Amino acid sequence: MTSFEYVRPGDVAAAVAMASGDPRAAYLAGGTNQLDLMLKDAVIDADRLVDIGRLPLHGITRAGDTLQVGALTTMEELAADPTVGKRAPVVREALLMGASVQLRNMATIGGNLLQRTRCRYFRDRDVAACNKRTPGSGCAALAGAPRMHAILGAGEHCIAAHPSDLCVALVALDAQVQIQGADGQRSVPLTEFYLIPGDRPDKENVLTRGDLITQVDIPLPAAGTRSGYLKVRDRASYEFALTSAAAALVVRDGTITAARLGLGGVGTIPWRAREAEAVLFGAPANDQIFRAAAEAAIRDPFTVPGTAFKVELAQRTIVRVLQTVSGAQS
Ligand code: SF4
Repeated sequence: MTSFEYVRPGDVAAAVAMASGDPRAAYLAGGTNQLDLMLKDAVIDADRLVDIGRLPLHGITRAGDTLQVGALTTMEELAADPTVGKRAPVVREALLMGASVQLRNMATIGGNLLQRTRCRYFRDRDVAACNKRTPGSGCAALAGAPRMHAILGAGEHCIAAHPSDLCVALVALDAQVQIQGADGQRSVPLTEFYLIPGDRPDKENVLTRGDLITQVDIPLPAAGTRSGYLKVRDRASYEFALTSAAAALVVRDGTITAARLGLGGVGTIPWRAREAEAVLFGAPANDQIFRAAAEAAIRDPFTVPGTAFKVELAQRTIVRVLQTVSGAQS
C-alpha cells in the first residue's frame, strides 16, 4: 500500500510553494501517467501529491499567430480546436494517434510533455539495472528487448525513447513552454526543454524542484503551409511509435520554401531534424531530395541489435510523410 499526502492548492503560487518545499512532492493533473507510475509500477515514490487540476490553467486562446494552450487543456480539447485543425493539422493528427479518446479526455497537454518513458525495464522494479530509475545501476535494455527504444541521442547509459506523439509535432513547430517556478516565470523553447541522457538519464528536462508548466505556446505555421504526422507502430491503435515523423512544408512551384521536421520513436527526446530541413530548404520536392533528407536525419545513430532496423524504417517514414505533405506522392 502506497501512502501519500494529498493537497489541493488554490492558486499557482500556492502550488509552486507546496511542491518547491518538498523534494518528494509531485504534481497531479490528469493522472493518466503519474498514478500508473506511483501506484501500479511503483517507480515514483512521491510522498505528497499536489493536485493542480482545479487551477486556472485551462483553455486555448489565440494571440496573433500563436495559440496559447493552458497546461490543463486536455488532449481532446486541443485536437478538437478548429484553428488547430485548419492551421496545424500535424498537431491534431499527433494527438489523435497518441491515445484513445478516453485517455485524451483525461490527459492534459502539460502532462503529455512530462510523460515518462515506456521502457519496460524502467517500469519494472524487479529489474535492478536502470540508470534512469537508479543512477549508476546500468541499463538492462542494451542487452534486452529494445524494439521500442531510441537510436538518436542514445548511448551506453540509456536508450529509452521519448513516448509522446504530440511533442514530435510541437518541436517541429517551435512551441514554447511557459514555466512558473519559485523564482518567477520563464519561457523555454520545447527544442531546449528536454535533455539528452548522456551519463545522467535520470535528469530528463530543464525543470527544477517545484517548477510548474503553466502554458504551451504553439506558433501557427504561415498560411500555405501543409503539415501532417505519420506514425508507424506494431498495431493500428493504442500503441506507441516504432517510428514517427511530423512534417510542415511550404512548396511553391515545385520548390520547398520552408521545411520543418520532427521525429518520434527514434529519439531519447522529441527529435528536431534540422539537418534534414537544411537538405529540403530550396530544393525541388521530389523523392530524391526526400531520401537525401531522410539520410541526413538519421546520421550517426546509436544502435544495438534490437534497434538497428529502425534506421531504415525511420528513413522510410520520413520519405513517406514528406511525399504525403508535399503532395508529391509517388
Ligand atoms: Fe533504464 Fe534507460 Fe536502460 Fe530503459 S533504456 S533500462 S530507462 S537506463
